[in-house]
Amino acid sequence: MNKICVFCGNPPENKNKEHVLPQWLLKMTGNPNRVVKFGNNYLEGKEIIFSWKKFTVPSCTKCNDKYAKLEGEVRPIIEKLCDKTEINSNEAIKLLDWLDKVRIGLWINYYYLEKNKAQINPRMFIENRMGRKDRFMQVQFLESNKKSDGLNAFGVETLSFQFNPSCFGLRINNILILNGSNDFIISENCGFPFPKKIESVENGMLSLKDWEYNRTVSKKISGLKLLKGVLTVLQPIHTEMNYETNYFNDSYLIQNCIDREKRIGTLFRFADDGVIPIYDLNAELYFESVKGKDIKIIGELIAKVYEGQNAFLSKVISGKEETFEKTIELNKKHIEFYKEYHKNFA
Ligand SMILES: [Zn+2]
Repeated sequence: MNKICVFCGNPPENKNKEHVLPQWLLKMTGNPNRVVKFGNNYLEGKEIIFSWKKFTVPSCTKCNDKYAKLEGEVRPIIEKLCDKTEINSNEAIKLLDWLDKVRIGLWINYYYLEKNKAQINPRMFIENRMGRKDRFMQVQFLESNKKSDGLNAFGVETLSFQFNPSCFGLRINNILILNGSNDFIISENCGFPFPKKIESVENGMLSLKDWEYNRTVSKKISGLKLLKGVLTVLQPIHTEMNYETNYFNDSYLIQNCIDREKRIGTLFRFADDGVIPIYDLNAELYFESVKGKDIKIIGELIAKVYEGQNAFLSKVISGKEETFEKTIELNKKHIEFYKEYHKNFA
């Protein structure tokens, strides 16, 4: 396997190592030198064990330096969430960028770690993928009597994630973040235009057909029904989709974009029964209260990662249908496993 830079996809210039999960995060969640069980592969009954510190991918020195600033900006945002302090929309957008970075980084990391088990040819890298497609995140507070430190990534070990790194979960101490990004996954529920038919053609290109544009919002995310979270935000982004359109001259999109040229929508959030656009990006995003029947065991929250991967993979019609069906079946086993999982993670 040829070494490629996780940021730009070229052979690494002045070779460096990028910590996909940064040092500050390792320190925040325990001893950075600890050896951890990572990406438990329940299906094959094997555990992937190594030191967090060695969890690195190749990168250019220049590329690595370029993204160091983002790390510095995200750290206080994560700290706020761990303290159950509200963040504003600009911070949420920054966090969404970082989650794109970590998700793609973990995907490339597993590509090396498991020796390209899905036989893919990576065309996505942090630089050409961060902030380019529809995305969402949901924050959950994990209620526990004792203070629990720890860091876990969920969903990154699956075959489905290797085919399409669309959805993963990150537990940081007492919070769990569910993050997803894929073509048009939340356009429909933010009232943005979307194709009902997405077909994978050659070289990773997509054919987009049967467009709809309803200008109405809803909570349904592309076949994935989310649980209630303390904060759920969505951002429709069509930057990567070079389709011909006049849509972005329409009044609804004029009102609800932060950059129409790049086809970047504003931030939307779940609020009580609905979905609302946010126009003041400096205003704090209040937390929704999760109580009574909305409180779920941790396993049920984690199961949503695997449900998300299945929902998003099912959306794309592809020549690899048989392989995808098998992948979806495998994920169903993860879902069953987690739905019964009551224990805490460490
Ligand atoms: Zn590079």
